[in-house]
Amino acid sequence: MRNLSFVLAGVLLALPAATNAAPMPVVVLDPGHDLRTNPATEPIGPGSSVRKIKDGGGTRGVVSGLSEADLNLRVALRLRGLLERAGVRVVMTRTKTSGTSMGNIARARIANRAEASLFLRIHADGSTDKSVRGTHTLYPALLRGWTDDVYGASMRAARLMQAEVVHALGFPNRGLQERSDFTGFNWSDVPVILVELGFMTNPTEDRLLATAAYQRRAAVGLCRGTLRFLERARASCR
Ligand SMILES: [Zn+2]
Repeated sequence: MRNLSFVLAGVLLALPAATNAAPMPVVVLDPGHDLRTNPATEPIGPGSSVRKIKDGGGTRGVVSGLSEADLNLRVALRLRGLLERAGVRVVMTRTKTSGTSMGNIARARIANRAEASLFLRIHADGSTDKSVRGTHTLYPALLRGWTDDVYGASMRAARLMQAEVVHALGFPNRGLQERSDFTGFNWSDVPVILVELGFMTNPTEDRLLATAAYQRRAAVGLCRGTLRFLERARASCR
């Protein structure tokens, strides 16, 4: 009986104070890279002696010449508008492509400080093989003490996001991938995923991703995935 009342008290405490006004969720959008690389290193997780470069720089459109940093930002800014209209508060890790990339611990700290419901990292991929193409979504591998608190929710977000972005862009579905070596994942205390929209080294995908129409498609797909993850069924992405 004592146990039961303890559990009930816990349930009551967990209820939001005002049930008629759902709190506005916060999503942190992280457009990958910046104007300049950052060759400094940082530990890949809290307390780790393994260090990785902060940012070796992104890829570039093989036909368009567009930098990945610019593409990521264009999509993120469109996505910000869609999410805000759907009643989501948005925090951006950057709003310009103008400086040295801040590194991945700094990006994760922005999400942690915002107590984000989702830390959404937006990237595009590159390969030495121009025929490689498609969309994939990465999420943190289960690492005790680092990602165990965000693993399940991140995987769920990755699944929903991958489905919506593939539907929106129509690129081949490369599926999901767990990563244990991403600094920005291991430092995150909130659910985190990284979407690779497509390959800028593939002429077809680069040409499409460089257009406003496909940047909008990408933003709509990311918005739908986010709203599904937040379980905001009635909100839409227009
Ligand atoms: Zn990237």
